[in-house]
Amino acid sequence: MVDFKFWRKGAKEDELAEVELPKRDLSGIRSLFPGEMSSDSIQDLEDILLMADFGFQASEQIVTQLKSRANKLGATTDAELRLVLKDLLVEYLQREDAKLNLTSGKLPYVFLVVGVNGAGKTTTIGKLGRWLSDGGWKVVLGAADTFRAAAVDQLATWAKRAETDLVSSEKAGQDPASVAYQTVARAIETDADIAIIDTAGRLQSKKDLMDELGKIRRAVEKIAQVDEVLLVIDSTTGQNALSQARAFSEVADVTGMVLTKLDGTAKGGVLYAIQQEFDIPVKLVGVGEGINDFAFFSAEQFARGLVAR
Ligand code: GDP
Ligand code: MG
Repeated sequence: MVDFKFWRKGAKEDELAEVELPKRDLSGIRSLFPGEMSSDSIQDLEDILLMADFGFQASEQIVTQLKSRANKLGATTDAELRLVLKDLLVEYLQREDAKLNLTSGKLPYVFLVVGVNGAGKTTTIGKLGRWLSDGGWKVVLGAADTFRAAAVDQLATWAKRAETDLVSSEKAGQDPASVAYQTVARAIETDADIAIIDTAGRLQSKKDLMDELGKIRRAVEKIAQVDEVLLVIDSTTGQNALSQARAFSEVADVTGMVLTKLDGTAKGGVLYAIQQEFDIPVKLVGVGEGINDFAFFSAEQFARGLVAR
């Protein structure tokens, strides 16, 4: 579970009880194993994990471990085996560094959100903006995806729903770096806590992408620091998700992954594969198109969803 005390702005440890934010869970996660689990059906799990994109090595290891632990613990019933599997998945997925970086105390915090078109960047920013507003943080969104006119309107709609401020370009095709700069400048002027910058996700050449993201970063760093570079990945795209992650992690200093569309997919294992390959924590997940359909990544909740009946 996410520790909400660290998210409510200014909350002290002992104020935990007062911090009641809307419940956001991962109940939309698809179960890996809807059928009856028994000692005989454990072997089938390897194929199921493979199909869910856990990758060959992990799938094999999880099944081997499950067998030996079930043996040791004498777990044989459906419920017992699910519990052992859940604990194993948690061990595989859990990381200590999955929290958003909101602790340095140096305001405003600046988040850059990157990823290919359609991955879910703008939607994620809207959801996160709402969550942070609810937590008492003052948020400015920056529409630095200046290549598509509709992109600005879409972020504007989310800014209204999330009750955040918005900075957008004065004219179509404006330099994204200048919008990013203006967003952070507005955050400073208005004493806002967090600036979240939406970027364009054109699949351009590696060099162009690197230049563009580098320019945005340098513009921000004239007046603030970049606290998070969140790479948004559509989890339904399978192997393509991995190659996108590769392309972006090579050119941007990615600090956290966001896996979207986990609601519509049986490919949740890609989350594990990505964390493993890039050694970058998954920090947020998207589980639907609505404003509340996201969660801070919790290995426990995710694993529960995967083993649910
Ligand atoms: P962007 O181009 O990266 O900014 O992507 P958008 O935020 O515009 O999202 C692209 C599409 O994916 C939209 O139709 C969103 O509603 C949808 N979407 C985003 N996140 C999720 C999610 O977690 N689950 C589902 N089912 N759809 C999502
Ligand atoms: Mg967008």
